[in-house]
Amino acid sequence: MSSLNLKNIYKVYPSGVTAVTDFNLDIEDKEFIVFVGPSGCGKSTTLRMIAGLEEISSGELYIDGVLVNNRAPKDRDIAMVFQNYALYPHMTVYDNMAFGLKLRKMPKPQIDQRVKEAARILGIEMYLSRKPKALSGGQRQRVALGRAIVREPKVFLLDEPLSNLDAKLRSQMRTEITKLHNRLATTFIYVTHDQVEAMTMGTRIVVMKDGFMQQVDTPINLYDHPINQFVAGFIGTPQMNFFSGKLTGSKGAKGKVYLEFGLEKIALPKEKVDLICNLDKYLNTDREIVFGIRPEDLHDEEAWVNDSKNPSIEVKVDVVEALGSETLLYCKTRSEQVPEDEESIKSIVDDVSNLTAKVDSRSSSKAGDNIKIAIDIIHCHLFDKETEVTILARDEENKAEIEALQAKREEEEAAKAAAAAEKLAAEEAKAAAEAEKQRLKMEKKLAKKNKVEAPAEEVAAPAEEPAAEEEKPAE
Ligand code: ADP
Repeated sequence: MSSLNLKNIYKVYPSGVTAVTDFNLDIEDKEFIVFVGPSGCGKSTTLRMIAGLEEISSGELYIDGVLVNNRAPKDRDIAMVFQNYALYPHMTVYDNMAFGLKLRKMPKPQIDQRVKEAARILGIEMYLSRKPKALSGGQRQRVALGRAIVREPKVFLLDEPLSNLDAKLRSQMRTEITKLHNRLATTFIYVTHDQVEAMTMGTRIVVMKDGFMQQVDTPINLYDHPINQFVAGFIGTPQMNFFSGKLTGSKGAKGKVYLEFGLEKIALPKEKVDLICNLDKYLNTDREIVFGIRPEDLHDEEAWVNDSKNPSIEVKVDVVEALGSETLLYCKTRSEQVPEDEESIKSIVDDVSNLTAKVDSRSSSKAGDNIKIAIDIIHCHLFDKETEVTILARDEENKAEIEALQAKREEEEAAKAAAAAEKLAAEEAKAAAEAEKQRLKMEKKLAKKNKVEAPAEEVAAPAEEPAAEEEKPAE
């Protein structure tokens, strides 16, 4: 048994940086959990708090139901594997793996048995007498894993363990770690910035951004039902296409709801419309939505384009990348296309293709072609432009959850806007006070100058008195 419960965990570094905000997660025994997100989103900090290498600022961490916030790392029964394998260069592979157990004063025969068993699992038995410098990157990484395995921990923590390896070795080690997880049947927590690693290895994935958890779900649910635009863009390569647009038309049994973006207008199927949360908020209103469609849900094959069930749009192909197993078409929708004669004045940096389609490798589309692209509309995604939260529920039961999240985000946005407005008003008031102070100073200076230059009878007049008085409150 090795379950973990993270409750309202925060990390605020002494420098004032809040690296992790309100992290909540229940990890079951034998799960393979992946923390994924861009650099600096708080993945390593969270892992290091679990390991005990970083103090938890607030919140509770339980391992097997026991609060371990104040327990030393060595007493948490976990093993951590780092990106840099940190092997002892002067020791053999055997000694590197045995070292931790010797420190724990484990009897020699038991150490020997554990090291040999781990070496067998990892396929490094023949290297046991070698020093790390005589090993390849992949072999060294296996030794680092071996050093963790021999401890037979309750939980394995892995922090970007494959980052130092080349692409081919990385994919090989990926499958090896998955097999290792199956073989050891222990809880794994794995940190990576690579969404492919996350998708291929995790039983559940935690997507993080700026210290906040965005979504916790299985790989397929993250792909099919991203909760917001960030998750939608982060999971999947090439990235999902996004277009700002509006919803128009009419609802009801006979009505039809249209998605309008750029110069396009396409009908949404009824089964999608039924899953839109708070449809009235968007239908024929000024409130914008973002339409998302993955490159693999766009098709240039005739069978797709000629099927009237699928809406299609006209695009101009900019660049074709034939990858062998598939072909990527980088295209421009009609709103992005400029007349031929004006095209030459655009630099290639400003000349952005706004639609990527991942089509069959037998596609005959060429750069410069004007083609029709069919949209597999049943796989479309819709987000609120302001909050970036999805407005499409997975099913009827999921609607309330999405609506609650939408409302929460709106409240946060409103609070943020109010705070920003307050700050701006305070800054403006300060600037106005400063300007007034300067004006009064100038007035006083001028009055003084006039006093020196003016005839004696005029000076006697009390003209400068109010100025001197007015200055006081400003100071
Ligand atoms: P990730 O692993 O996702 O790349 P980290 O957990 O390493 O992100 O860092 C999260 C945030 O905390 C970043 O903004 C980083 O700069 C900050 N941070 C990390 N370690 C420290 C530290 N020791 N002191 C201050 N800030 C830190």
